[in-house]
Amino acid sequence: MRILLASRNKKKIVELRRILTTVEIVGLDDVPPFPDTVESGLTFEENALLKARDGARVSGMPCVADDSGLAVDALNGMPGVFSARWSGRHGDDQANLDLLLGQIGDVPDEYRGGAFVCAAALVMPDGTEHVVMGEMRGTIIREARGTGGFGYDPIFVPDGHEVTSAELTPEAKDAISHRGQAFRELAKVIAEL
Ligand code: IMP
Repeated sequence: MRILLASRNKKKIVELRRILTTVEIVGLDDVPPFPDTVESGLTFEENALLKARDGARVSGMPCVADDSGLAVDALNGMPGVFSARWSGRHGDDQANLDLLLGQIGDVPDEYRGGAFVCAAALVMPDGTEHVVMGEMRGTIIREARGTGGFGYDPIFVPDGHEVTSAELTPEAKDAISHRGQAFRELAKVIAEL
C-alpha cells in the first residue's frame, strides 16, 4: 500500500518510513502540488484531520497527517496549536522560545511542567478516519541547552531524563517522543486495515 504523508519535512518522512515498514510512504513533494491546508482548527486532532482529509481527497491515496506542539501547564495548555507561530512569526523557533521563557519567568520550578503533544490522523480515500495521540511530559527549564532537535527542544527536559530533548540523539528522542508514540500507534491501525 502507498500512503501519502501530508508533509514536506524530510525528517518527518524518514521517521514515518522507519516506523511504518510494511507500506510505502510518499511526501507532498512526490505528488502533484495542491494548495497548503489552512490549519484553522483549535485542537491538534482537528488540524491533523484537516490536513489528512485534503491529502486523501486530492491524491486519492490514504493520507497521514500530524499536528503537534507544546502544551505548558502554567499557560493552561498554550502555546498548543499555536506553537509554531506563538511569537507571531510562523516558524521563528528562537523568537517563540524566548517569548515562552519570558511568559513563565516567574513560575516556580515545581509548576513548570508541560507536554509535547502529537495527533496523527489517517484518512482513507473512502472517507474513513482514524486519529491517535502521543504525549511526552517533561519540565520547561529556564535556559536553552543543546543543539539537536528543533522548536522548543532546547528548553524541554523529558520526565526521567537529565538532558533536554535537544541533547538527545534523534533515535533516543524518537523512542520517547510524542510523534514517535503517535506514529507507532498509527502503525497498529494500519496493520489492521
Ligand atoms: P508541526 O506539528 O510540525 O507543525 O509543529 C508545530 C510546532 O510545535 C513546531 O514548530 C514546534 O515549535 C513545536 N514542536 C512540535 N514538535 C516538537 C518537538 O519535537 N520539539 C520541539 N518543538 C516541537
